[in-house]
Amino acid sequence: MALYTITFLGTMAYRPTESRTLVSTYVGTDDMHLMVDCGEGAQSRMVQAGITLGGEIIVFVSHKHAEHFLGLFGLAITMRVMAPEARLRVFAESETLARLQTVAKALDDRFVGGLTFEPFREGVFYENKTSTLQAFPLQHLVPSALLLLN
Ligand SMILES: [Zn+2]
Repeated sequence: MALYTITFLGTMAYRPTESRTLVSTYVGTDDMHLMVDCGEGAQSRMVQAGITLGGEIIVFVSHKHAEHFLGLFGLAITMRVMAPEARLRVFAESETLARLQTVAKALDDRFVGGLTFEPFREGVFYENKTSTLQAFPLQHLVPSALLLLN
């Protein structure tokens, strides 16, 4: 059984406050870096929390509202410079992926080249030696998903 370290990087919707940034949660195990959403300010909060990323990073974007993903591109640019071997595998439903890919295309590929975008399917969409990730549809204003980590 894997030991998970969960760090709430941001817990705000729409706008940050003095003490809270936009939505993002980091889950670390011995063999996985997982980010559930990546709102603006996520990478600053990771620095403050002493979280160092590298290798494969799984990013699950729950839906297409901007506060759930605007931190992704700054993080990708930083990773390109600080850990060029790192790969950010971004999983999202199709409408969200389309929006993410539009933003990525507007940026220079030299800076966001470590990003890959993959649609998740309902059920298990990722697994490694110790963990699985499962997505479930969630009722929200737009197509959304809930993540189950086992
Ligand atoms: Zn929303």
